[in-house]
Amino acid sequence: MVIMAEHAGFCFGVKRAVDAVSEALKNNSEVWTIGLPIHNPQEVARLQAMGLRVAQNDSEIPSGAKVMIRAHGEALDVTERLRARGIDIADMTCPFVRKAQEKAAELSSEGYHIVLLGDKNHPEIKGILGHVGNVNDAEVVADESEALNVQFHAKTALISQTTQREERLEKIAGILTGKSSELRVCNTICKATAQRQDAVRKLVRENQIDGVVLIGGKSSANTGKLKDILTAEGVNVLWVEDENEINANSKWFKEKSVIGIAAGASTPEWLIDKIKNIIAAKQDVLRGY
Ligand code: SF4
Repeated sequence: MVIMAEHAGFCFGVKRAVDAVSEALKNNSEVWTIGLPIHNPQEVARLQAMGLRVAQNDSEIPSGAKVMIRAHGEALDVTERLRARGIDIADMTCPFVRKAQEKAAELSSEGYHIVLLGDKNHPEIKGILGHVGNVNDAEVVADESEALNVQFHAKTALISQTTQREERLEKIAGILTGKSSELRVCNTICKATAQRQDAVRKLVRENQIDGVVLIGGKSSANTGKLKDILTAEGVNVLWVEDENEINANSKWFKEKSVIGIAAGASTPEWLIDKIKNIIAAKQDVLRGY
């Protein structure tokens, strides 16, 4: 039997951005993104086959091109440089990421030392940092141990990467309470992330699951978090990017009669369906249907 997690695959922000890129590609041959549009190699390949070009940085974008700002958002100086060159910009920054950018800009201008909870190498965090007025008065912490190193500041604002877990935000807030006279905590974790995290917990707690196939890009932060949660729940996880990593004849599949399927917020529906059908068909064969 195959049981799907209640919430799996594209979140609102990613779907909105990917749909906009697909639509733009129908009408324009010069559509670019800066960096990969989504942390899913299969969906990137589909968009590139439609004509999408991916630049490493804004200086590579040619005049006359259209640039789609991806759901992760972009630093202010990047969009300013593009505008100054007269490049056509379609800003598909997810509204939840936008909220984190605006909070960072607002609280920085009010003199708060900004602490961003997240991965300093993730484009979303780079984009949020790129909205902080005084970047020398901002820092990124990845976890509790890094939060312990934050110095005392009279006013501190803690802002979260949208894909972080609530528990970690609360713990970091607890640590920072003793390091500031005035701490503002902005919970900018988006519901889509929480929904997918709750859905995998529910999947394994409410069903007798023998193992979970987790579908998503290996560089997808939100898929990685689902893997952490499933592992903490003590369930056996098979993390795959596409159907080529599914060997339905393997010991992993043969030993399991109830398989859960979960997917990160950057996994397209067509890929989830493809993998679900392969697993279900193989299980039917194994059961002699
Ligand atoms: S995970 Fe949330 S914040 Fe990120 S793109 Fe999706 S809806 Fe937006």
